[in-house]
Amino acid sequence: MTSDPRTTSAQAAVLEVKDLRVSYTSGKEILKGISFEVGPEDFVAIIGPSGAGKSTLIRCVNRLVEPTGGQVEFLGQDLLQLNEADMRRQRRNIGMIFQEFNLIDRLSVMDNVLTGRLGYMGNLRSLFRLYGKDDIAQAVQLLDRVGLIDHLDKRADALSGGQRQRVGIARALIQAPKLLLVDEPTSALDPKIAREVMGMIRGIAREFKVPVLCNIHDVDLALEFCDRVIGLQDGIKKFDGPPSSVDKHALADIYAMEVL
Ligand code: ADP
Repeated sequence: MTSDPRTTSAQAAVLEVKDLRVSYTSGKEILKGISFEVGPEDFVAIIGPSGAGKSTLIRCVNRLVEPTGGQVEFLGQDLLQLNEADMRRQRRNIGMIFQEFNLIDRLSVMDNVLTGRLGYMGNLRSLFRLYGKDDIAQAVQLLDRVGLIDHLDKRADALSGGQRQRVGIARALIQAPKLLLVDEPTSALDPKIAREVMGMIRGIAREFKVPVLCNIHDVDLALEFCDRVIGLQDGIKKFDGPPSSVDKHALADIYAMEVL
């Protein structure tokens, strides 16, 4: 039987965003009908000027920001149609890495990673943070993978910025996510550490076979580490293609500059 290539690619997509629209309470439309797909092996960078809506777009996917229109199909299910309980269950499958790391400072590195398992636990076990042996073994393994095995007992606030982001990476991975959302992972880091962190996210995405959607304002990092680039400007998708086709004209269009 021959298959419709469009259907095949739609089935292969992990995430399909269609005509996504967002207005905050101020009423101004921030995302003005964004559509794109993320395939199972994609590492997609979202670039664009400050205020273009990159962070809003990332946060709409797991409904940290509530879209006002469109569809967010994740593994074939429109997340915008889910009730709160079903959305909570789906959030387990979507790992998130944040700009400010979002760690709990007074907890150990190990406990911070283990919080990534809370979504899988019943109310009582999660209230008392009663993690299973398997979770603990996996946290140790992931901390080893991100190079923090010697720091697992330290309080999170005793670590450097780069180390804190690696805790954030391990915490996202212990969820066994089917998609990673990454929101400005390097803007709190100096350039050398920023490259290390991006390299680690890319290496891990490949190793764990998890697609990534990454908001990153640093174009050089986006071009170096990602294999697809979406350019946003004022809530509109201006570009969608491989890094090799991001030339000065594409950048001028995304950043609304004149080509010199
Ligand atoms: P980017 O990540 O591209 O810098 P953002 O998604 O953070 O852009 O912001 C897009 C626009 O939405 C900006 O004009 C910003 O001021 C506005 N915005 C972001 N968050 C909120 C919010 N919680 N309430 C109202 N406006 C917001």
